Amino acid sequence: KLENATIKAELGRASWKLLHTMMARFPEKPTEDDSLALKTYMQLFSRLYPCGDCARHFQGLLKKYPPQVSSRNAAAGWACFMHNQVNERLHKPIFDCNNIGDFYDCGCGDEDKDKDK
Ligand code: FAD
Repeated sequence: KLENATIKAELGRASWKLLHTMMARFPEKPTEDDSLALKTYMQLFSRLYPCGDCARHFQGLLKKYPPQVSSRNAAAGWACFMHNQVNERLHKPIFDCNNIGDFYDCGCGDEDKDKDK
C-alpha cells in the first residue's frame, strides 16, 4: 500500500494528544508502581506504534532519553522534550515546554480528587 501522509499525520496528532494528556494527569507524587507503569507504557508504545518508521526512531530516542517518571512535572517535561526531538527531525516548530501547564486538559472534571485538575 502507498504511504498516506495525511493519515500518518492524523495518527501522530491523536497519539501526541493522548500522551501529553496522560502526562498532565500523572500523579504529582507517583508510587513506584505508577512510575513503573509509565515506563512500561512508553516502552510498549514505542514498540507497538503503528507507523514502523516512526516507532524505530522513537525507540532510538527512548534509549537516549529514558522516561522521567518521578513526578507529573518530570513526566510532562520529558514528553514535551521528546515531542520536540521529533519536531526537530521533521523540521516542525519547537514547542515552549514552559507553556505545557494548562495546555492538555482531559475534560474529565474533578471526579478524581487525588489529581486536583
Ligand atoms: P504534532 O507534532 O502532531 O503536534 C500536535 C500539536 O501538539 C501541535 O499542534 C502543538 O499544539 C502541540 N505540540 C507540538 N509540539 C509539542 C511538544 N513538544 N509538547 C507538547 N505539545 C506539543 N511523523 C513522521 O512523518 N515521521 C516520523 O518519524 C514520526 N514519528 C513519530 C513518532 C511518534 C512517537 C509520534 C507520536 C508521532 C510521529 N510522527 C512522525 C507524527 C508527527 O510527530 C506529527 O504528529 C504529524 O506530522 C502531525 O504534525 P502536526 O504538525 O499536526 O503537529
